[in-house]
Amino acid sequence: MLRQRAQRIETIDGIVQAVADRMLELMHQADGAGLAAPQVGLSWRMFVTRGDENQPDRIFINPRLTALQGELVLREEGCLSVPGIQVDIRRPASATISARDRDDQSFILHGDDLPARIWQHECDHLDGVLIIDRMAPIDRIAYRKMLKELEASAAEG
Ligand code: ZN
Repeated sequence: MLRQRAQRIETIDGIVQAVADRMLELMHQADGAGLAAPQVGLSWRMFVTRGDENQPDRIFINPRLTALQGELVLREEGCLSVPGIQVDIRRPASATISARDRDDQSFILHGDDLPARIWQHECDHLDGVLIIDRMAPIDRIAYRKMLKELEASAAEG
């Protein structure tokens, strides 16, 4: 599931809304900054992000990164689906994203730094891309044993 390209959500109905609400709960329970539908076993183009003092929790349905700008910034990322691994990943500093919300209203957001990074990380999940695919070769060597174990447990599950 984590390796598949997720499907567009055609209709935002009660089921989609219930899943979105549950994903928000799970994200908070796991203390994550974001959570994408493929991480909970659904091949849907949807993710949620945690709010802070400046903005609310958000639900992004059929999100699209419409612009990636700014210099490439190296910053450490982790992922609830790849436990125990923290790697430096280079990503554009700014992003513009369009999506639909839980009430089927479209919205566009521009973000710098952390929000831009989280949106890119979560959109990666919708395309089947994980941080281990974006890690530098030196990190890949350092984490070689752990990655092998992850692959083995994924094959079993
Ligand atoms: Zn992740």
